[in-house]
Amino acid sequence: MRSTSLSAKSELTSAPKTKPAISIQHLNHYFGEGELRKQALFDINLEIAAGEIVIMTGPSGSGKTTILTLAGGLRSAHEGSLNVLGQELCGASETQLVQARRKNGYIFQAHNLHRSLTALENVAMGLEVQGVSSKSERYDRATKILQQVGLEDRTNYYIDNLSGGQKQRVAIARALVSHPQLILADEPTAALDKKSGRDVVALMQKLAKEQGCTILMVTHDNRILDVADRIVYIEDGRLAAHPNPAEIA
Ligand code: ADP
Ligand code: MG
Repeated sequence: MRSTSLSAKSELTSAPKTKPAISIQHLNHYFGEGELRKQALFDINLEIAAGEIVIMTGPSGSGKTTILTLAGGLRSAHEGSLNVLGQELCGASETQLVQARRKNGYIFQAHNLHRSLTALENVAMGLEVQGVSSKSERYDRATKILQQVGLEDRTNYYIDNLSGGQKQRVAIARALVSHPQLILADEPTAALDKKSGRDVVALMQKLAKEQGCTILMVTHDNRILDVADRIVYIEDGRLAAHPNPAEIA
Protein backbone atom coordinates (compact mmCIF):
# COMPACT_ATOMS: atom_id res chain seq x y z
CA MET A 1 0.00 0.00 0.00
CA ARG A 2 1.41 3.36 -0.94
CA SER A 3 0.94 5.32 2.29
CA THR A 4 0.78 9.01 1.56
CA SER A 5 1.49 10.29 5.04
CA LEU A 6 2.65 8.62 8.16
CA SER A 7 1.23 10.04 11.34
CA ALA A 8 3.75 11.80 13.57
CA LYS A 9 3.02 9.27 16.27
CA SER A 10 3.84 6.25 14.17
CA GLU A 11 7.02 7.93 12.98
CA LEU A 12 8.10 8.50 16.57
CA THR A 13 7.40 4.93 17.56
CA SER A 14 8.93 3.80 14.25
CA ALA A 15 6.01 1.52 13.48
CA PRO A 16 6.97 -1.29 11.11
CA LYS A 17 6.26 -0.64 7.46
CA THR A 18 3.38 -2.51 5.85
CA LYS A 19 4.39 -6.14 5.56
CA PRO A 20 5.28 -7.23 2.04
CA ALA A 21 2.59 -9.25 0.29
CA ILE A 22 5.21 -11.68 -0.98
CA SER A 23 8.65 -12.26 0.45
CA ILE A 24 10.87 -14.84 -1.23
CA GLN A 25 14.31 -15.69 0.14
CA HIS A 26 16.85 -18.14 -1.23
CA LEU A 27 14.15 -20.17 -2.94
CA ASN A 28 15.23 -23.27 -4.88
CA HIS A 29 12.87 -25.60 -6.67
CA TYR A 30 13.34 -28.92 -8.46
CA PHE A 31 11.27 -31.10 -10.78
CA GLY A 32 11.58 -34.86 -11.12
CA GLU A 33 13.06 -37.52 -8.87
CA GLY A 34 16.38 -39.31 -8.64
CA GLU A 35 18.56 -39.03 -11.73
CA LEU A 36 15.87 -37.06 -13.53
CA ARG A 37 15.79 -34.40 -10.84
CA LYS A 38 16.37 -31.03 -12.47
CA GLN A 39 16.66 -27.67 -10.75
CA ALA A 40 14.17 -25.13 -12.10
CA LEU A 41 14.70 -22.21 -9.68
CA PHE A 42 18.02 -21.05 -8.27
CA ASP A 43 18.29 -18.82 -5.18
CA ILE A 44 15.33 -16.58 -5.95
CA ASN A 45 15.05 -13.45 -3.77
CA LEU A 46 12.12 -11.12 -4.28
CA GLU A 47 9.94 -8.84 -2.18
CA ILE A 48 6.65 -7.45 -3.39
CA ALA A 49 4.99 -4.73 -1.36
CA ALA A 50 1.27 -4.80 -0.64
CA GLY A 51 -0.56 -2.90 -3.39
CA GLU A 52 2.30 -3.19 -5.87
CA ILE A 53 1.82 -4.32 -9.48
CA VAL A 54 4.83 -6.37 -10.54
CA ILE A 55 5.34 -7.87 -13.97
CA MET A 56 7.63 -10.86 -14.33
CA THR A 57 9.06 -11.42 -17.75
CA GLY A 58 11.67 -13.68 -19.33
CA PRO A 59 12.12 -16.37 -21.98
CA SER A 60 9.95 -19.46 -22.24
CA GLY A 61 11.05 -22.17 -19.82
CA SER A 62 12.82 -19.73 -17.50
CA GLY A 63 10.68 -20.54 -14.44
CA LYS A 64 7.97 -17.89 -14.45
CA THR A 65 5.00 -20.26 -14.10
CA THR A 66 6.89 -22.24 -11.46
CA ILE A 67 7.27 -19.14 -9.26
CA LEU A 68 3.64 -18.21 -9.76
CA THR A 69 2.31 -21.67 -8.89
CA LEU A 70 4.51 -21.79 -5.78
CA ALA A 71 3.32 -18.36 -4.65
CA GLY A 72 -0.28 -19.44 -5.30
CA GLY A 73 0.06 -22.59 -3.20
CA LEU A 74 -0.59 -24.79 -6.24
CA ARG A 75 2.57 -26.75 -5.51
CA SER A 76 4.77 -26.89 -2.44
CA ALA A 77 8.09 -25.09 -2.31
CA HIS A 78 11.22 -27.12 -1.64
CA GLU A 79 14.03 -25.01 -0.20
CA GLY A 80 14.34 -21.49 1.16
CA SER A 81 11.54 -19.26 2.30
CA LEU A 82 8.37 -18.22 0.51
CA ASN A 83 6.09 -16.05 2.61
CA VAL A 84 2.79 -15.08 1.01
CA LEU A 85 0.33 -12.84 2.86
CA GLY A 86 2.03 -13.66 6.13
CA GLN A 87 2.03 -17.42 5.65
CA GLU A 88 5.18 -19.50 5.09
CA LEU A 89 4.60 -21.84 2.15
CA CYS A 90 7.96 -23.58 2.09
CA GLY A 91 7.35 -26.95 3.69
CA ALA A 92 3.63 -26.18 4.11
CA SER A 93 1.20 -29.09 4.50
CA GLU A 94 -1.50 -29.79 1.91
CA THR A 95 -4.09 -28.30 4.28
CA GLN A 96 -2.06 -25.10 4.60
CA LEU A 97 -1.67 -24.94 0.82
CA VAL A 98 -5.43 -25.22 0.37
CA GLN A 99 -5.87 -22.33 2.81
CA ALA A 100 -3.27 -20.29 0.93
CA ARG A 101 -5.04 -20.92 -2.39
CA ARG A 102 -8.24 -19.44 -1.00
CA LYS A 103 -6.49 -16.15 -0.31
CA ASN A 104 -5.43 -15.40 -3.87
CA GLY A 105 -7.07 -15.02 -7.26
CA TYR A 106 -5.20 -17.07 -9.86
CA ILE A 107 -5.63 -16.31 -13.56
CA PHE A 108 -4.33 -19.17 -15.66
CA GLN A 109 -2.81 -18.79 -19.10
CA ALA A 110 -5.45 -21.02 -20.63
CA HIS A 111 -8.26 -19.40 -18.62
CA ASN A 112 -9.29 -22.78 -17.04
CA LEU A 113 -13.01 -22.03 -17.14
CA HIS A 114 -15.61 -24.82 -17.01
CA ARG A 115 -17.07 -25.23 -20.48
CA SER A 116 -20.21 -26.92 -19.19
CA LEU A 117 -21.06 -23.86 -17.11
CA THR A 118 -22.16 -20.36 -18.07
CA ALA A 119 -20.08 -17.24 -17.46
CA LEU A 120 -22.18 -16.46 -14.38
CA GLU A 121 -21.87 -20.00 -12.99
CA ASN A 122 -18.10 -19.97 -13.48
CA VAL A 123 -17.72 -16.71 -11.56
CA ALA A 124 -20.15 -17.78 -8.80
CA MET A 125 -18.06 -20.92 -8.35
CA GLY A 126 -15.12 -18.67 -7.46
CA LEU A 127 -17.12 -17.73 -4.37
CA GLU A 128 -18.32 -21.23 -3.58
CA VAL A 129 -14.74 -22.42 -3.09
CA GLN A 130 -14.25 -19.42 -0.76
CA GLY A 131 -17.05 -20.75 1.41
CA VAL A 132 -19.77 -18.20 0.55
CA SER A 133 -22.67 -20.47 1.39
CA SER A 134 -25.61 -18.36 0.22
CA LYS A 135 -26.38 -19.09 -3.42
CA SER A 136 -28.21 -15.81 -3.93
CA GLU A 137 -25.24 -13.87 -2.55
CA ARG A 138 -22.88 -15.76 -4.88
CA TYR A 139 -25.04 -15.00 -7.91
CA ASP A 140 -25.54 -11.35 -6.93
CA ARG A 141 -21.84 -10.76 -6.52
CA ALA A 142 -21.00 -12.68 -9.71
CA THR A 143 -23.54 -10.62 -11.65
CA LYS A 144 -22.04 -7.39 -10.35
CA ILE A 145 -18.47 -8.22 -11.21
CA LEU A 146 -19.50 -9.42 -14.69
CA GLN A 147 -21.06 -6.00 -15.16
CA GLN A 148 -17.79 -4.40 -14.08
CA VAL A 149 -15.85 -6.35 -16.71
CA GLY A 150 -18.42 -5.34 -19.34
CA LEU A 151 -20.10 -8.73 -19.78
CA GLU A 152 -23.57 -7.97 -18.41
CA ASP A 153 -25.12 -9.12 -21.69
CA ARG A 154 -23.15 -12.39 -21.70
CA THR A 155 -23.79 -13.73 -18.18
CA ASN A 156 -25.81 -16.71 -19.37
CA TYR A 157 -23.54 -17.66 -22.29
CA TYR A 158 -21.62 -20.91 -22.18
CA ILE A 159 -17.85 -20.46 -22.29
CA ASP A 160 -17.49 -21.89 -25.81
CA ASN A 161 -19.77 -19.17 -27.14
CA LEU A 162 -17.53 -16.33 -25.93
CA SER A 163 -14.57 -14.76 -27.73
CA GLY A 164 -11.00 -15.08 -26.41
CA GLY A 165 -11.13 -11.63 -24.82
CA GLN A 166 -14.50 -12.34 -23.24
CA LYS A 167 -13.27 -15.65 -21.78
CA GLN A 168 -10.26 -13.88 -20.31
CA ARG A 169 -12.57 -11.26 -18.78
CA VAL A 170 -14.67 -14.03 -17.20
CA ALA A 171 -11.43 -15.49 -15.79
CA ILE A 172 -10.54 -12.07 -14.34
CA ALA A 173 -14.03 -11.71 -12.87
CA ARG A 174 -13.72 -15.15 -11.29
CA ALA A 175 -10.34 -14.26 -9.77
CA LEU A 176 -11.50 -10.88 -8.44
CA VAL A 177 -15.05 -11.66 -7.28
CA SER A 178 -13.90 -12.66 -3.80
CA HIS A 179 -11.76 -9.48 -3.41
CA PRO A 180 -8.52 -11.40 -2.87
CA GLN A 181 -5.52 -9.57 -1.43
CA LEU A 182 -3.30 -11.03 -4.14
CA ILE A 183 -3.80 -11.65 -7.87
CA LEU A 184 -1.47 -14.05 -9.64
CA ALA A 185 -1.87 -13.90 -13.42
CA ASP A 186 -0.02 -16.16 -15.87
CA GLU A 187 0.23 -14.59 -19.31
CA PRO A 188 -3.38 -13.37 -19.24
CA THR A 189 -3.09 -11.70 -22.63
CA ALA A 190 -1.24 -14.46 -24.50
CA ALA A 191 -4.22 -15.50 -26.59
CA LEU A 192 -5.51 -11.99 -27.26
CA ASP A 193 -5.03 -9.41 -29.98
CA LYS A 194 -3.40 -6.12 -29.07
CA LYS A 195 -6.58 -4.19 -28.25
CA SER A 196 -8.23 -6.94 -26.17
CA GLY A 197 -4.90 -7.57 -24.42
CA ARG A 198 -4.60 -3.98 -23.32
CA ASP A 199 -8.29 -3.81 -22.34
CA VAL A 200 -7.99 -6.91 -20.17
CA VAL A 201 -4.90 -5.65 -18.37
CA ALA A 202 -6.28 -2.13 -17.89
CA LEU A 203 -9.32 -3.75 -16.32
CA MET A 204 -7.22 -5.84 -13.95
CA GLN A 205 -5.27 -2.75 -12.97
CA LYS A 206 -8.44 -0.71 -12.35
CA LEU A 207 -10.17 -3.39 -10.29
CA ALA A 208 -7.01 -4.11 -8.33
CA LYS A 209 -6.57 -0.42 -7.47
CA GLU A 210 -10.21 -0.23 -6.39
CA GLN A 211 -9.88 -3.34 -4.25
CA GLY A 212 -6.38 -2.47 -3.00
CA CYS A 213 -4.81 -5.76 -3.97
CA THR A 214 -1.31 -6.78 -5.05
CA ILE A 215 -0.67 -8.16 -8.54
CA LEU A 216 2.10 -10.43 -9.74
CA MET A 217 1.67 -10.95 -13.46
CA VAL A 218 3.76 -13.05 -15.81
CA THR A 219 3.91 -11.86 -19.38
CA HIS A 220 6.19 -11.51 -22.32
CA ASP A 221 3.77 -9.13 -23.91
CA ASN A 222 5.77 -5.91 -24.19
CA ARG A 223 2.60 -4.00 -25.10
CA ILE A 224 1.42 -4.06 -21.49
CA LEU A 225 4.62 -3.49 -19.49
CA ASP A 226 3.63 0.08 -18.68
CA VAL A 227 0.93 -0.99 -16.18
CA ALA A 228 3.64 -2.27 -13.84
CA ASP A 229 5.12 -0.42 -10.89
CA ARG A 230 8.17 -2.66 -11.37
CA ILE A 231 9.40 -5.27 -13.82
CA VAL A 232 11.47 -8.27 -12.79
CA TYR A 233 13.31 -10.44 -15.26
CA ILE A 234 14.03 -14.16 -14.95
CA GLU A 235 16.35 -16.25 -17.07
CA ASP A 236 17.34 -19.91 -16.64
CA GLY A 237 15.67 -20.05 -13.23
CA ARG A 238 17.50 -17.01 -11.87
CA LEU A 239 16.34 -13.47 -11.33
CA ALA A 240 18.60 -11.37 -13.49
CA ALA A 241 19.41 -7.76 -14.12
CA HIS A 242 16.83 -6.36 -16.44
CA PRO A 243 17.81 -6.29 -20.11
CA ASN A 244 16.87 -3.26 -22.11
CA PRO A 245 13.11 -3.25 -22.84
CA ALA A 246 13.63 -3.66 -26.58
CA GLU A 247 15.17 -7.10 -25.91
CA ILE A 248 12.27 -8.37 -23.83
CA ALA A 249 9.88 -9.13 -26.67
P1 ADP B 1 8.01 -20.51 -17.98
O1 ADP B 1 6.68 -20.33 -17.33
O2 ADP B 1 8.97 -19.38 -17.73
O3 ADP B 1 7.90 -20.80 -19.45
P2 ADP B 1 8.17 -22.90 -16.34
O4 ADP B 1 8.15 -22.39 -14.95
O5 ADP B 1 6.91 -23.50 -16.86
O6 ADP B 1 8.74 -21.79 -17.35
O7 ADP B 1 9.30 -24.02 -16.45
C1 ADP B 1 10.62 -23.84 -15.93
C2 ADP B 1 11.42 -25.13 -16.12
O8 ADP B 1 10.89 -26.17 -15.33
C3 ADP B 1 11.42 -25.65 -17.56
O9 ADP B 1 12.68 -26.21 -17.83
C4 ADP B 1 10.35 -26.70 -17.55
O10 ADP B 1 10.62 -27.68 -18.51
C5 ADP B 1 10.47 -27.26 -16.14
N1 ADP B 1 9.15 -27.73 -15.66
C6 ADP B 1 8.05 -26.96 -15.46
N2 ADP B 1 7.02 -27.70 -14.99
C7 ADP B 1 7.49 -28.97 -14.89
C8 ADP B 1 6.91 -30.21 -14.47
N3 ADP B 1 5.64 -30.27 -14.03
N4 ADP B 1 7.69 -31.30 -14.51
C9 ADP B 1 8.98 -31.25 -14.92
N5 ADP B 1 9.57 -30.12 -15.33
C10 ADP B 1 8.86 -28.99 -15.32
MG1 MG C 1 4.78 -20.30 -18.22
